[in-house]
Amino acid sequence: MKAPINTRIIKWIDNYLYDPGLEPEALLRKRWAWIWMFVNFLGISVMTIIALFFQVWETIWFPFALILIHLVALKLYPNAKRFDLVVNIGYTIVILMTFVMLVQIGGLRTSLGFVFIGLNCAMGSVLAGNLRWTVSMFIIYGVTIIFLGILSPFIETPDYITPELNNIFFVLDAVWVNACILFLTVFYMKDKSRFEKAETERMKKLDEAKTLLYTNVSHEFRTPLTVIQGIAEQMEQKIDKWLRTGPGKIKTQSQILLRLVNQMLDISKIEADSMQLNLIQGDIKKYVQYIAGSFHSLAENKGVELFADIENTPLFADYDPEKLMQVLANLISNAIKFTPKGGQINVEVSGKVEKGQDMVNISIADTGRGIPKEAILHIFERFYQVPDKYDQTPGTGLGLTLTNEIIKLMKGEISVISEPGNGSEFLVLLPVTRTAKLEEDHGISHIHPGNIHSLVPGKESVTEHDVQADISFKKPILLIVEDNKDVIEYLVTILEEQYIIELASNGKIGLEKALKIIPDIILTDVMMPQMDGFELLNHLKNDILTDHIPVVVLTARGDYPSKISGLEKGADHYLVKPFNEKELFLKLNNLLEARKKMQQKLGVLSTVSQRAKKDYKQELQFMTRINTLLDEQLHDENFGIQDICSAIGISRPQLYRKFTALTDKTIGKYIKTYRLYKAKKMIESEGKNVTEAAIDSGFKNLSHFSAIFREEFGYPPSDLL
Ligand code: ADP
Repeated sequence: MKAPINTRIIKWIDNYLYDPGLEPEALLRKRWAWIWMFVNFLGISVMTIIALFFQVWETIWFPFALILIHLVALKLYPNAKRFDLVVNIGYTIVILMTFVMLVQIGGLRTSLGFVFIGLNCAMGSVLAGNLRWTVSMFIIYGVTIIFLGILSPFIETPDYITPELNNIFFVLDAVWVNACILFLTVFYMKDKSRFEKAETERMKKLDEAKTLLYTNVSHEFRTPLTVIQGIAEQMEQKIDKWLRTGPGKIKTQSQILLRLVNQMLDISKIEADSMQLNLIQGDIKKYVQYIAGSFHSLAENKGVELFADIENTPLFADYDPEKLMQVLANLISNAIKFTPKGGQINVEVSGKVEKGQDMVNISIADTGRGIPKEAILHIFERFYQVPDKYDQTPGTGLGLTLTNEIIKLMKGEISVISEPGNGSEFLVLLPVTRTAKLEEDHGISHIHPGNIHSLVPGKESVTEHDVQADISFKKPILLIVEDNKDVIEYLVTILEEQYIIELASNGKIGLEKALKIIPDIILTDVMMPQMDGFELLNHLKNDILTDHIPVVVLTARGDYPSKISGLEKGADHYLVKPFNEKELFLKLNNLLEARKKMQQKLGVLSTVSQRAKKDYKQELQFMTRINTLLDEQLHDENFGIQDICSAIGISRPQLYRKFTALTDKTIGKYIKTYRLYKAKKMIESEGKNVTEAAIDSGFKNLSHFSAIFREEFGYPPSDLL
C-alpha cells in the first residue's frame, strides 16, 4: 500500500534536504523552515501576478526582488552548512527592503498591507531555531515600524496608490499572513509534538536497552571472575595441583574480561563519535584469509568446517586492519558459535563495481541455526539482543552493534540473509579507495598478537560423560549443569570429595540426565544454550520423578528480579557469581540435611503429621500414588516393583532412586512393611482374624507372615486379638 500523499511529499523533502551532520530535531526544523520559505515564494508569485493586473509599475520592482531573494535562498538552502543563516539573512534583507518600499508608497497609512511582510519574516525565523537571530529580527521589524511612524508627517502618498488599491492589498496581505501563521502553529507544532513524543519513546527504549546491556555485561563479567577468584583460592590451598594449569586458565579468563572491556570502550567511543580509522592499503583478500585462518582451530574444536578459499587475484584497498579484524572476528566467531557440529562456514571475498564505484564484498555464510525473521530487523540495532525465547546463549549483544557501527564508519553496509534452521549469510559491502600507504604485509603486523586471541570466544563445550544409571550410592550425586568449561573444572575440584559428580553442558542435557539418574541435588547455571536454567527448573519441578530434587541456581545475574523469578520457579537457593566456596558448601549441605529430615518424616508408615503434609505436599503426591497402587492390589502377593514401574511409566532404577531419595528406604522393603501395617490395621480395627488379614494383605504363607510381623512390631499378630 502506498503512503498518503502528504507523507510522500514530506519524505521527498527530507531526502532533498538530508544532511547527515544534523541532529533529528534540527532536520525537523530544516524541513519546516524550507516549507515555510517555499509557501511564501508561491504566495509572493501569486501576489505579483495580481499586482501586474493593477499595472502599478512604480512598485513592481518590490515583488520581483522578493521572488529573486527567495529563489537564491531556496537554491542555497539544501546544501548550506548553516541553513538557519540562509533563512535569517534572507528575511532580514526582506524586512529592510519592505521598509524602503513602505517609504515609497506613503508610510503606514497607505502600506498596502506590506507592514505584515516583516512580521511574517520574523515568524519564519522562529523555524530556523536561532534564538538570537529571531530576537534581532523582531527588533529590526519593530524599529522599522517605529521609524515609519516618526517619518509619517514627512512622507507623501503618491497618486498611483489609490484607497481601493490599498484596501484590496491590505486585505490580501492580512489574510495571507494570517494563513501562514496558522499554518505554522498547526502543522509545525503538530509535527514537533509528534517528534518529541517519538524522541521520548526512543530515549526510553535506549535507556531500557542500556540497562539491559549493563545487566548482561555484568553477567558476562561475573563468570570469568568466578573462575579467577576460585582458581586463586585453590592455588592457595593446593598449590601443586594448580601451579601448572592455574595461571593459563586465569590468563584465558582475563582475556575474556579484556575483550569485554574493549568492547565497552569502543561502544562509548562510538557514542561520543570519537572512533577513528587508521587506514593502510593492502590486499584485502589476503588479509581476510589470514584472519579467517586464525579461527580454524576454534572451528575444528567445535567440529565445524571453516572454508576460506579466497582466490588469488589481489584486491588492493584501504582498510583499518584492527577494525576490520574486529568485524571479521565477530562474524566468524558468531558463525562458529551458532553452527552445530558437522556444519560448514564459508568465507568469501570478491570485488565488484556499483554505480561506477569499486566495492569489495565479504560474505560469511554458515549452515547453522539461523536467525528468526522478527529478530533480523533488529540485530544490528544498538544494544539489541535476540530475545530469550529464541536464544539462551550468553552474550552481551555488543558484537553486532559494534560491527555495524565500524562498518558505518568505513562507509560500508552490512546485511544478513537468514532462514531459521538453514543458516545465515552476513554480507559486508565496503567502498574501495586506494589512497593510504601501501603495506607489504597487508596490515597483519598491526594486529596486536594478544588481540586476536581475546576476540576468539573462550567458551568451549563440556565433554559429556556417559550416563550411568546404576551409580554407587555412598556419596550423594550432584548434577552440575553449566556450559563454561573452566567454571565446571573449578566446581568439580571443590566438590568432588563430597559428591559423585555428573555433568551436563546445557539445560536440555541436564534434564535428560536428571531424569535418568535422579541425582540427589542439582547445581545449575542460568544462561546456557538450548535450554536455560529457569526452563530446566520448570521441567524439573513439574516432573514427578524430579520434583523432589533440591536445585541451587548458580548465576551471574545478580539483579533482584532475576533472583525472585528463580525462587518463584522453585529454586531452593540462588547463588550469585562470583560466589564464596564456603557458602556453596553450606547451601548444598543444608539442602541435603533438610532432605534427610524429609526422608525421616516420609519414610515412617504410621502417620504423617499435618505439618509434614503441608511441607512435603509435592513429595507426598508420589508416595500417595504408590500407596494407592498398593491398596488396590494388596491381596495380590505377586504385585511388586515391576508392576508399580509399569503403572507409573518409569524404569526400575528411576523408581528405586526416586523412592530412596524420598524415604531413604528401598522400595522392596517399603512394600513389605506397607502390607504388614495394613494387616495390623485389619486385625485391630476391621475385626479380621490373623488368617484373613494375612491373605487380604498379600501373604499366602501364614508362618512367614507371623515371623516377619514379629520382626517388624516385636510381637506376633495373634497378640492383637
Ligand atoms: P554477542 O556479542 O552477545 O555475541 P552479537 O551482537 O554478536 O552478540 O549477536 C547478537 C545475536 O545475533 C546473537 O545472540 C544471536 O542470537 C544472533 N546471531 C548472530 N550471528 C548469528 C549467526 N551466525 N547465526 C545465528 N544467530 C546469530
